[in-house]
Order: sequence, then structure tokens, then C-alpha cells
Amino acid sequence: ASNLEEKDCIFCKKDQNEYILENELVAAFWDLNPVSQGHLLFIPKVHRETFFELSDVEILAMKQLLHAGRRMLTKKFNPAGFNIGVNVGEAGGQTVMHCHFHLIPRYIGDDPNP
Ligand code: 5GP
Ligand code: ZN
Repeated sequence: ASNLEEKDCIFCKKDQNEYILENELVAAFWDLNPVSQGHLLFIPKVHRETFFELSDVEILAMKQLLHAGRRMLTKKFNPAGFNIGVNVGEAGGQTVMHCHFHLIPRYIGDDPNP
């Protein structure tokens, strides 16, 4: 990715004090417009436009931080399940062009199609 892309990227510019969880390669923070209580976003710390630009070590770091997120959300909110989702490309519903995983806690009786 070019420096220009990163300068204009809201996730590259995110205040690191708002990171809820992080490891060397990945960070997590609360979604601005949560679809349920506890909705987290997970991003590679280096700008990658989509899921398909992630390296294997970033995928592993992502998996590890998703597990940490699940543990934290389970303690905090005791959800009944989760959705994990990644949108790719504008036509795929991606609105922020810095790869991110949604980790969405789900609760019995909530709207299954938010
Ligand atoms: P997408 O549709 O690209 O998969 O999801 C983008 C997500 O980013 C949305 O859920 C939206 O609420 C969230 N979002 C957009 N801008 C910001 C922001 O500035 N801060 C945070 N924390 N989340 C954002
Ligand atoms: Zn970025």
C-alpha cells in the first residue's frame, strides 16, 4: 500500500490508546456503530486493503487475537454465540478499505440479520 493510502486511512490513523486488545501484528477496538453489545473490529497494524493481502503470520496473529477477544467478551457480556465476518471490496460491503474482521457477540433473541 502507498503512503498516500495510509495517510488517508481512518484505521491507520486510529488512536492507539483506543486499542482494547493487541499483539505484535493485530489490534482490536470497539466498532463505532455496534450491531450488538461488544462488537469489536480487528485490524492488521500494517495497512492491508483486504483480507487477501494478509500474510500467513498476520492470519495467525489475527486468529490469536480473535481468541483473546472471545475470552474478553465472554467474561464481559456472556454472549450465546458470535459472528465473525470479513467484507472484501465495495461490492462485498467493505466500507473501510483497511482489512478488518468483525467479531460480533450474539444473544438469544437478538436480531439474527442486523
Ligand atoms: P465494513 O462495512 O467495512 O465491513 O465495516 C466497517 C465498520 O467500521 C462498520 O461496522 C463501522 O461501524 C465501523 N467504523 C467506521 N468508521 C469507524 C471509526 O472511525 N471508528 C470505529 N471504531 N469504527 C468505525
Ligand atoms: Zn490503513
